[in-house]
Amino acid sequence: MSAMAKYQLGSHTYPSKSVALAEFRSILNGTALDEPLSASAAGMIQLLLRDGYHPEAAEKIGPGIEGVVVRINAYGTRGFWLRRLDGTEVDFSYLVALNGAPSVEQGVRIALREEINDQIVTFFDTQTADLARGRVVCELCVTVVGSNGIQVDHAAPTFIELASRFADSLGGWDVIGVECVGPTGRRLADRNHARVWWEFHRQTARLRLVHKRCNLSRARSAHS
Ligand SMILES: [Zn+2]
Repeated sequence: MSAMAKYQLGSHTYPSKSVALAEFRSILNGTALDEPLSASAAGMIQLLLRDGYHPEAAEKIGPGIEGVVVRINAYGTRGFWLRRLDGTEVDFSYLVALNGAPSVEQGVRIALREEINDQIVTFFDTQTADLARGRVVCELCVTVVGSNGIQVDHAAPTFIELASRFADSLGGWDVIGVECVGPTGRRLADRNHARVWWEFHRQTARLRLVHKRCNLSRARSAHS
């Protein structure tokens, strides 16, 4: 699918999925906590739930939606909460509603990514001093990187290659159980597998800092 493909939500057409994503993200970040969304914003959220791709939309809607609020969820990030007509409340992921449920492979990869997030954060922290001294070079464009617009990236082998190797070693994506943590978090259900993966990633991954824009243009050319 092209990055510029139009994105359809019921009768509403967005120029692209990223435009739709940006609209919902701006509602999420631009709304005061625990205050009812404006009628138009709440209407957009209901449209997203009703006409989007959330696999549990019917259960989330239940007897009907009375209102929508934004709250801080377990991970300290903002999330949408639905107030139902019967007074019950439930959270829902607008990202799942926009994208649909991930495939088994995507779901496991998301969990694997979250399992090693502390390694990413630790690596970034080790680079802080060198960044400040202008000693970090983006390998993709071979220029010095500043402290803005950068991200941690996997030099070869890529994260997807590492994840695939790990999945192969266990017998494939389908045998790896994933469980939810909070409204949007995921982790491996088997904590021994999680420890093996964490150690494998720590020893094998070659982390580096690159410009976000360099990484993005590389990803685009690799997928097109
Ligand atoms: Zn670069």
